[in-house]
Amino acid sequence: MKRYDVIVVGAGISGLLAALTLSKHGKKVLVLEKRQHLGGNCNSYMVDGYQVDTGAHAITHLIEGPLKRLMDNYFDFLPVFEEYGHYYVRTENTLVKVPSNLKDFVTFDVLPRKDRLLLSQTLTKAFTLSSFGIDLSDQSVYDFLPKSLSKETYDFVDTISAFLSGKSMKETSAQRVLSGSSFVRDSITQEQFDAMIGRLEPKKSQSTESILASVLPYHLHASLQARMTRVTQPFTSLERLATNNVNYSQGYPRKGLKALLNAVLYSLPETVEIKTRCEVKSILVQDGKISGVEADEVYNSDLVIYTGFATELPRLIMDLPQEYKANLEDIVHSKSLTIWLGLEKEFSDFNYTGSEIWFKDFAYWATPISNYDPSLAPKDKQLIGFSFVVDENKNEEEEIKKAYDTIFRAHPNIEKYIDMQHEQITVPEKAAVTINGKFADIRTPVRNLYVAGTDTDKRSMGITRASYSIIELLKILNEDGNLH
Ligand SMILES: Cc1cc2nc3c(=O)[nH]c(=O)nc-3n(C[C@H](O)[C@H](O)[C@H](O)COP(=O)(O)OP(=O)(O)OC[C@H]3O[C@@H](n4cnc5c(N)ncnc54)[C@H](O)[C@@H]3O)c2cc1C
Repeated sequence: MKRYDVIVVGAGISGLLAALTLSKHGKKVLVLEKRQHLGGNCNSYMVDGYQVDTGAHAITHLIEGPLKRLMDNYFDFLPVFEEYGHYYVRTENTLVKVPSNLKDFVTFDVLPRKDRLLLSQTLTKAFTLSSFGIDLSDQSVYDFLPKSLSKETYDFVDTISAFLSGKSMKETSAQRVLSGSSFVRDSITQEQFDAMIGRLEPKKSQSTESILASVLPYHLHASLQARMTRVTQPFTSLERLATNNVNYSQGYPRKGLKALLNAVLYSLPETVEIKTRCEVKSILVQDGKISGVEADEVYNSDLVIYTGFATELPRLIMDLPQEYKANLEDIVHSKSLTIWLGLEKEFSDFNYTGSEIWFKDFAYWATPISNYDPSLAPKDKQLIGFSFVVDENKNEEEEIKKAYDTIFRAHPNIEKYIDMQHEQITVPEKAAVTINGKFADIRTPVRNLYVAGTDTDKRSMGITRASYSIIELLKILNEDGNLH
């Protein structure tokens, strides 16, 4: 029977990044994925000639964040990122840029002037506290706000909170909004990385997108790509308060989200074996130590990295301590609905790059992704993704109907141009960053069983958070003598 140095459970972006990094540290890795497809929530697929992603995505902190650090140190192939563009707010009458600094707030007339002043003061206070090193994780966004704002302003803040954490402003931490709006920037320098991870074999040179041939002209992505290869002068705190850009260092991968997945897959060495449609039913322990997993058969290894939902662990492994299980039960999830609409022709409402937020009644976040790359839609057509946070206790059919009604209210003429429609219901991250929600530790009570993924790190969000969790995993494996 084959033995592996490491078994990774789950082939989402976290599991695949774990497999990539560990294999580059010389490990023989087996990845087991229960679904037919790799990538989990990080993938794209075809629907009636349109290429949709698993939810509308913006990849954040590409210049100095954890994904950049992983790409620099472990990837042989790199995706090309298009400059993200801007975030807008749509109302019945206007489309205006989302304010992300004090200057923008002055002219943001979607909200009453009095509220804008109050919000600016609140932002200044939060930012000042944060720049003095005070962690605002335990304070809700709502608690941080003045109590005399209009309903409209509360709805706006509630919407921003929901898209950053999957939960309302009463449950979202103030810290989350600061990092999500780029005031607190996610960065891991190469020096910090080297200190955490230790020795890494010299890497072959990287090839940018050689397998992801593209039709887009170079100038469309040159700017972000250039910034990614040169260290920019970091802003001082005060400068950022005045000039912060929420879209700073964000990008969308050319050829869609699967280009990022493909870059990881093509960078995997031959020492990584992947099996799909292979659900891990139990994690095996002998004498208090990991011995392997049971899926379609038993696979042996002294080291297992689990990247499914941490809340599922007690189902897979017997006799976990009660206190540990209770902590896992306190992890909070949220649910999202994405509606993809293929439009027969380019629609004038969506003649921008970036995304728009609708914050009335049922909020959405929409991105015209074919504006980044026209090849994602059939010729002269357009592809838009609308993501909603849905109530997990409500009937899905009703939520979907309500979502369509909202889209038709925001874009009254869109219905007659619909050429394709497709819905996805997903759990965006394995833990929502709320004031009370817990996160799993990377180390578990069982020796040599580790958890990685978006429920093990509360910094940042999505793929950036998954990348943080992998760097933290490598650090911990290094400390435990399991990396080199
Ligand atoms: C609508 C939406 C919008 C989003 N927007 C953004 C964004 O703008 N920016 C961003 O960075 N991120 C965004 N995300 C989040 C991002 O896609 C996820 O955080 C990330 O893909 C999670 O990766 P993961 O590997 O941790 O988890 P997953 O993708 O959930 O992967 C886990 C994998 O493990 C497998 N698995 C689980 N249990 C088992 C088992 N027992 N045996 C075998 N296999 C198992 C699952 O099948 C799955 O493939 C968004 C997600 C959604 C849904």
